[in-house]
Amino acid sequence: MTTLAKAPTPMQKPKNVPPASFNSPIFDELGFPTDPHNLYRQTVGAMLYAAELMGLPHRVQIILAQPKTEIMVHFPVKMDDGHYRLFKGYRVQHNNALGPYKGGLRFHQDVHLDDVKSLAFLMTMKCSLVGVPFGGGKGGVKVDPRKHSNAEMERIVRRFTTAIAHGIGPDYDIPAPDVGSNAQHMAWIADTYSFLADVGGKDPSAVITGKPVEYGGSLGREKATGQGVVDTLVEMLPELGLKPEQCTFSVLGFGNVGSWSGKIFQDKGAKMIAVADHTGFIKNEKGIDAHDLATYVQKKGGVGGYPNATAVSKEEFYKTKVEVFIPAALEQMIQEEEAKWINAIVIAEGANAPTTPGGERILIERGIEVLPAILCNAGGVTVSYFEWVQNKTYQMWDLEHVDRELNKHMVKAASKTRDARRKYNCDLRSAAYIAACERLNQAYAARGIFP
Ligand code: GLU
Repeated sequence: MTTLAKAPTPMQKPKNVPPASFNSPIFDELGFPTDPHNLYRQTVGAMLYAAELMGLPHRVQIILAQPKTEIMVHFPVKMDDGHYRLFKGYRVQHNNALGPYKGGLRFHQDVHLDDVKSLAFLMTMKCSLVGVPFGGGKGGVKVDPRKHSNAEMERIVRRFTTAIAHGIGPDYDIPAPDVGSNAQHMAWIADTYSFLADVGGKDPSAVITGKPVEYGGSLGREKATGQGVVDTLVEMLPELGLKPEQCTFSVLGFGNVGSWSGKIFQDKGAKMIAVADHTGFIKNEKGIDAHDLATYVQKKGGVGGYPNATAVSKEEFYKTKVEVFIPAALEQMIQEEEAKWINAIVIAEGANAPTTPGGERILIERGIEVLPAILCNAGGVTVSYFEWVQNKTYQMWDLEHVDRELNKHMVKAASKTRDARRKYNCDLRSAAYIAACERLNQAYAARGIFP
């Protein structure tokens, strides 16, 4: 292997670090896919490594290694030109030991079962770590929303809701937005569900979160994941001898999470100098205004062609020297090659599972700190919990209250993660899983397994 550049301020390398390809006996016991590149194997493997380190009982390990329920549906929808298309949708309910299943709905052309299972698993871990009374779930439709008119999307979303309506509910499984879905989609889901569900005359709109503020949504929900990313950074940067105003940063993916992380981190004094999405890679060492770029992306659909920056290659984007690198796009985007290129002190995972185990191993060797997704991007589901509480108790919180409560949850989750890192002398991802699994283990110890 070539000698890799060290990060400018290396973190202390922990004693216990997961190998590039972890092999748990649970994989064979449960018949996991054998391909080491399989996302589900990689995602659950990171938890099983942590579980071994902390001595999590075998019965809890096997429960957490598989989802409880996997719903798969096919449904026809009439297109604007009169022909019908068949769509495939999913809802995976991973675990409800701590409360109702909770997690987003992804509308993307590449959505597949392994993907949804991995994301549902991550929700169980995230909700446990951030201290909300929810389990984990995830769903989605294999569809490219960019290729459909508003009217077609409305029919797809309402028909999908009809197909899964018997499996969700305000006290059972509460979806939310994810990649490709937005507040308008959530409003159609809440409206369709209200029409279908018989919940004894009660308002069932708490069946979904991330709704528009005008229809039961919470102030601060739209920016919540980005706000949580920045809250985590503010909490963790001092350990690395940094303050936000001393940081330059780059962002991979400029949708909801990337753009809000960029805007909020910039407002704290940091300078964004490189951005990438599906339309291109751009850079400006003098700074790219995150607010202005977000407005441009809303109009043009991507960062490509942004006039106040220069188009660069993928390699140059990754190699740009920054203090903070924020992946906020899809899974498995930081593999071995990208991990060798990244020239940052800390990676703040806004996306779910953006770093592969092989990539992470290289980042750790190079002394680059990774703030793991289940900690760093838990702001979205935390404010979803606040929305659900407001719906159920007929309250409306002001933005200051939402932000203050969110910050409390993020600070506490960061501190539990730090404590576990110290206790087990491990990397932050394993520490976050240990903290999450400790709460789940306590719940199983109290509940038992019946019958
Ligand atoms: N989709 C988001 C996530 O991955 C939010 C889920 C929610 O609000 O329930 O965390």
